[in-house]
Amino acid sequence: MTHFEIKAYPEMWKDLDMDVERFDKMRLMLGEIFEKTYLSQKNRPAGMAYFDNMIAELHGSRIKELLAAKEEGRPVIGTFCVYIPEEIVLAAGGVCVGLCGGSQGSVPDAEKILPRNICPMVKSAFGFKAGRICPYFQVLDFVYGETTCDAKKKTWEILDEMVPTHVMEIPQMKNQTDQEMWLAEVKAFKTKVESFSGKEVTIEDMRRATRTMNNKRKALQRLNTLRHTNPTPISGKDVLLIEQIAFYDEPIRFAREVNELCDELEKRIADNVAIPSKNAARIMVAGVPMALPNWKLHNLVEGAGAVIVNEESCIGTRYYKDLMDENAEDMETILQNLTSRYMQIDCSCFTPNNERIDQVLREYKESGAQGIIHYSLQFCHTYNIEEIRIRQACEREGIPYMFIESDYSPEDVGQLQTRVEAFLEQIGE
Ligand code: SF4
Ligand code: SF4
Repeated sequence: MTHFEIKAYPEMWKDLDMDVERFDKMRLMLGEIFEKTYLSQKNRPAGMAYFDNMIAELHGSRIKELLAAKEEGRPVIGTFCVYIPEEIVLAAGGVCVGLCGGSQGSVPDAEKILPRNICPMVKSAFGFKAGRICPYFQVLDFVYGETTCDAKKKTWEILDEMVPTHVMEIPQMKNQTDQEMWLAEVKAFKTKVESFSGKEVTIEDMRRATRTMNNKRKALQRLNTLRHTNPTPISGKDVLLIEQIAFYDEPIRFAREVNELCDELEKRIADNVAIPSKNAARIMVAGVPMALPNWKLHNLVEGAGAVIVNEESCIGTRYYKDLMDENAEDMETILQNLTSRYMQIDCSCFTPNNERIDQVLREYKESGAQGIIHYSLQFCHTYNIEEIRIRQACEREGIPYMFIESDYSPEDVGQLQTRVEAFLEQIGE
């Protein structure tokens, strides 16, 4: 195996006002972790080469594409949450980038400013900007945050001192009044994007963008359905990587590559080519999203000989389970449809959130999993409390269940490994 490295673009990074020396060290470390986590896997599908290359070019060719978009006057907008409607950004000719907050490396930068006892995703994302160690943050025109949790909504005020940060109010209930407010927020977002790009979004632009996003989400749905096959033709780690890349790749190219990989997986299934052995324990993960490069739980579970077959998470099904009508006749209807589509996302910030409990049970059945691990980040109150209801539902249904609350540091890996192994043994009995 040739040595893997994430490619360096020091001149471009310097132009982007990054801390180049420090970032270069992080690049080398990330490359090593990627090689160890991903390239050591046996018998991977050939179609993973595209996604491996997306990692090799993580700080290079995609950044060049974003710079080219800016040259053409197309807005590049950073987001942190799947409630921000990408369709509107695409319709205005812009680029939407889901910013990463999955690394321990940027947490100390954040802790110099923010309190330590908030979730690591918020700290990691903020630290990337504070430390000037993320080229995506340096390229974008503005950030669009949301009010899904207290840690995020107060952090946006501080982040705004470093990069223009706008905020979408996301209601926390789903009544008629909330729906009306949400639609108004979607319209305000459209106005903001239009005024920045100097382009009025037409109904045809919205239809085209909706088709693009539907196709991308359908490709991810197809991949998720194929991995549910027993034995599965692709590792959970590889699917997680694809789901993470979905947040920054160009959507049309991304969907094409995912579909090509799916063609290969269909052939693998027909030829009975599987990644793990037939009797590997099948695990579903539910809970908070795993932003790039958070591979901690997948590494532990698959390192112990099991396979992850589903992510009920914003990095997983919450991002792609819902499509929307592509053919509305007028702007008001398409924006209403868009709002309804986004309102189906069942984040734990909502109360009540019974839909999510039902969705977890549905995905458990569909994926053919044999146990659920609920994964939460430290200090995330909404997921950590909603976990109680997921646990109760699993007890009721007789589903083997385990709860993990963690952060991005390697400190708890030994302890988690012991717990995961014990859980897998319990499933195998
Ligand atoms: S978990 Fe909630 S707040 Fe986080 S990305 Fe998903 S929808 Fe947004
Ligand atoms: S994981 Fe929880 S605390 Fe962290 S950003 Fe998401 S909703 Fe907020």
